[in-house]
Amino acid sequence: MCRHLAHVGPTPVTLASLLTEPPHALLVQSYAPTDMRGGGTVNADGFGVGWYVRDLLSDSSEDHARTALYRRDDPMWTDASFLDLAAAVETTALVAAVRSATVGMPVSTAACAPFRADGRLFSHNGVVRGWPHTMADLAATLAPVDLLTLDAATDSALLWALVRARLAAGKDPADALAGVVADTLAAAPGSRLNLLLGDGEQIVATAVDHALSYRTHPDGAVTVASEPLDLDDAWVAVPDGSLLAARPGTPHDPPAVTVTAL
Ligand code: GLN
Repeated sequence: MCRHLAHVGPTPVTLASLLTEPPHALLVQSYAPTDMRGGGTVNADGFGVGWYVRDLLSDSSEDHARTALYRRDDPMWTDASFLDLAAAVETTALVAAVRSATVGMPVSTAACAPFRADGRLFSHNGVVRGWPHTMADLAATLAPVDLLTLDAATDSALLWALVRARLAAGKDPADALAGVVADTLAAAPGSRLNLLLGDGEQIVATAVDHALSYRTHPDGAVTVASEPLDLDDAWVAVPDGSLLAARPGTPHDPPAVTVTAL
């Protein structure tokens, strides 16, 4: 099963400080994950990172949620150029993932998270049981054009379209994720649904049958990840069946992190 990570903070950090440098960085989780529940041994079917472009974030007259997206359908460890880029690029917020494709689903760049739309970045770690048949009724609630423009023929891409539909209908990000989890579990019981959504200013995430942890940093930043990036005591395991919402603080104000039952 895939591994994913999101970060939001008051000060820029390099992509490498989260994705490649820590002892159990996402890079290491791509070839040696330690808490893969429900199958899969490595996450070698591609990877992606979307990050917020700092200069535009600070200019409210511009699109405040301008992102850059880098995705590949190769293992992260084979992409020397990415490892180089990651050490040089800084951001205050990102969403990243390494993929282990569910059997029967395509291996392609477009199937790699994060998925992006309207300044938001989304990742799904898990599987929808009985895909695609169990999701036919939920898919039919989408506008035909949303189905015709799915990022990929995968459960994760459909979940993203369902989340987007709720956001477009005015739901806040936490309600949108919780609603999609509830509807999907009703349609496809036993699904594994760790969803992760960032907009540059906050992170919302669910833990449904997969590992998830978070930590806060002294400068007010928050990192959410499938597996802790190191052995620091600051990591907190998120209980199964939870919804997490996190906003960064400052060196003087702690971040706001809430974990509630779904
Ligand atoms: N089912 C999704 C996919 O195939 C996510 C896979 C995973 O979490 N391993 O893309």
